[in-house]
Amino acid sequence: MKVIRSTLTGYCHGVSETIHKANSCLKLAEKKNLNCYSIGQLIHNNDVSAYYEKQGLKIVNNPKEAEPGVALIRAHGIPQSLRRSFLERGFILEDATCVNIKKTQSKIIEANRKGRTVVLLAVRSHAESLCLQGTEDPTHPGKPIPVFLVSSEEDLKNLFDSVDQSCSITLVVQTTFEQGSFEKLTNLIMAHYPDCERGNSLCYACLKRKKAAEDLCGLCQAVVVVGGLNSENTKDLAKYIHRQGGRVYCVENVSDMDSDFEEDVRKNRIETIGVCSGTSTPAEIIDAVCERLESLN
Ligand code: SF4
Repeated sequence: MKVIRSTLTGYCHGVSETIHKANSCLKLAEKKNLNCYSIGQLIHNNDVSAYYEKQGLKIVNNPKEAEPGVALIRAHGIPQSLRRSFLERGFILEDATCVNIKKTQSKIIEANRKGRTVVLLAVRSHAESLCLQGTEDPTHPGKPIPVFLVSSEEDLKNLFDSVDQSCSITLVVQTTFEQGSFEKLTNLIMAHYPDCERGNSLCYACLKRKKAAEDLCGLCQAVVVVGGLNSENTKDLAKYIHRQGGRVYCVENVSDMDSDFEEDVRKNRIETIGVCSGTSTPAEIIDAVCERLESLN
């Protein structure tokens, strides 16, 4: 089978930084003879997370559940109250919060200082969403800035009932929110509030991947999206390709390319297939998927 690989694969800069800092944390913990942790799953890739767990990077969600040690804040960030709790319990923190998410936090602080109401478009329980909802003004530590969360169209009635149309709104979005919902919800909110500004946008690294995947669709009969099934940007990438009318297969790694997968590829007479990936997928996994596809007749 002919395989065409997207021009944009591998880690985004936020995930690269997380991996780099995970290695530093492990070295520091070893030097100080301390335990080493990731606050939540390191990245949305089970193979990579399992590798780091074997190296000694345990997952911790709450400081009370583990002995103090060196703990990594992954790319999604954490609420400021949780950061304080880890420090108060004696943990040494290494911060890999993605620069894009830090910028959104600054926008929330700035909007709040100007007396604007912050509306956040985000998946309710996603780690980035929780981090942004926990943003505090440095002049008022301990008090999260009120953020109105909108996850779907159903939340709009509540927003419109609770926040008067005359209010000044700053709209921020989870960097990996699904693009179709983002556009639809943004248009509805901006149409309702005459004074509504956009505070940030979707992650540019993800948008560029979607553009590269769109180019693949024109060259292939199907596209394989390689990435964690719990990764929002991977799911969004797959939905985006589907909306372009392309046939999509989602796999985490080669073990998902089982006999059913092969049979489907044959049944649909696919001769040329594209490969793209989410931002947490390492190059080795993409290489292995490409090799496996090339070996299919
Ligand atoms: S996907 Fe974008 S926002 Fe998320 S970690 Fe990567 S660069 Fe940062």
